[in-house]
Amino acid sequence: MKPEKVYACFNKDKDVRLSSSSGAVFSSLAEYVLNKNGIVYGVTMSEDCYSAEFIAVTDRSGLTKLRGSKYLQAKVGDTFKKVKVELQAGKLVLFTGTGCQVNGLKNFLGKDYKNLICVDVICHGAPSPALWREYAQYQEKKMRGKLKSINFRCKDDSWADFGMKEVIKSIPKNKMKKYFISKDNDSYMRMFLQDYCLRPSCYECTAKKVKMSDLTIADFWGINNVAPDMDDGLGTSLVLIRTAKGNELFESANRNMKMKEVSYEDGVKGNPAEYKSCARPSQRDKFFEDMRTMGFDDLKEKYAVPIQYSLKIRVKRKIKTTVKRILRVIGGGRE
Ligand SMILES: Cc1cc2nc3c(=O)[nH]c(=O)nc-3n(C[C@H](O)[C@H](O)[C@H](O)COP(=O)(O)OP(=O)(O)OC[C@H]3O[C@@H](n4cnc5c(N)ncnc54)[C@H](O)[C@@H]3O)c2cc1C
Ligand code: SF4
Repeated sequence: MKPEKVYACFNKDKDVRLSSSSGAVFSSLAEYVLNKNGIVYGVTMSEDCYSAEFIAVTDRSGLTKLRGSKYLQAKVGDTFKKVKVELQAGKLVLFTGTGCQVNGLKNFLGKDYKNLICVDVICHGAPSPALWREYAQYQEKKMRGKLKSINFRCKDDSWADFGMKEVIKSIPKNKMKKYFISKDNDSYMRMFLQDYCLRPSCYECTAKKVKMSDLTIADFWGINNVAPDMDDGLGTSLVLIRTAKGNELFESANRNMKMKEVSYEDGVKGNPAEYKSCARPSQRDKFFEDMRTMGFDDLKEKYAVPIQYSLKIRVKRKIKTTVKRILRVIGGGRE
């Protein structure tokens, strides 16, 4: 299903962009809806950081909870029912989630509402929440503390070379400690990126063919080749406009964004998750059997093997991150 229009864009607010996974287009869309007295549904981590769940946000400060990708399947609970109540009360609602969650909501509602706008993220797949819990508890034991927050897409090295930023409160000293683990070294990210731990439906994702959202947002992987002027290493979003309502929201909300229209082909060249499901690894069933019987240490030993990148990519990345680190130190920035 080809969209009507495709854009590369990013939010001009640098702080918002740094705390978002891609170019922070989500925050621009959400702020516009909040300014219209609307309500935004999206995904946050639970208080104990062991799960991800949908919540409703009605003010700007609440958006910090929704910002950033949480790489695990989120609990929907009674969200669809709550959305229906708000729609029937005439509230403007922005619902954001994966394609299957948007389709699920639309099927649940059974009819169109003028005051509902749906945004989905291009979705490679959602990892098992049970694996996330095991990982979180393993990290807590290893670091001797309690996980207080997690950023799955920390841009300290760069947008493309992202990592996990974990804040752990030490026990018994109650000191907050921050850990940055590059995606290439983190055991959870390795298992995610090698597709072992995704939900069964993700290998045959029906939402790749049936898109019921008004807008789709994603990372603009490959932007450096398509529109280098839109790539400053801090994150660029890909936006696919699917309906007139989606177009209207994007046109109204893009004042704080730098943007450029591109072709669909250029937009998705580096992002096959837009149109096809990932292949189910032959070890996937054995992985879940092992997850139930092995300790996390053994599981990671067996499955969290280094992802193989070509020498060219490894050298390029090393040079890029070293230059960025040097520039940050010279500029007295975050290190
Ligand atoms: C499980 C998952 C897989 C993804 N796979 C890809 C991919 O293959 N290619 C790609 O280009 N982009 C993928 N994304 C999307 C990408 O990571 C960014 O979320 C997206 O580009 C929006 O970024 P942003 O900077 O505009 O806003 P951000 O502030 O980073 O995004 C926040 C938005 O993501 C939603 N969200 C966060 N976690 C979840 C979750 N667990 N379930 C449902 N919605 C969630 C929030 O509700 C909010 O709408 C994936 C996201 C998730 C959650
Ligand atoms: S890959 Fe498809 S089925 Fe899996 S979470 Fe994403 S949208 Fe849903």
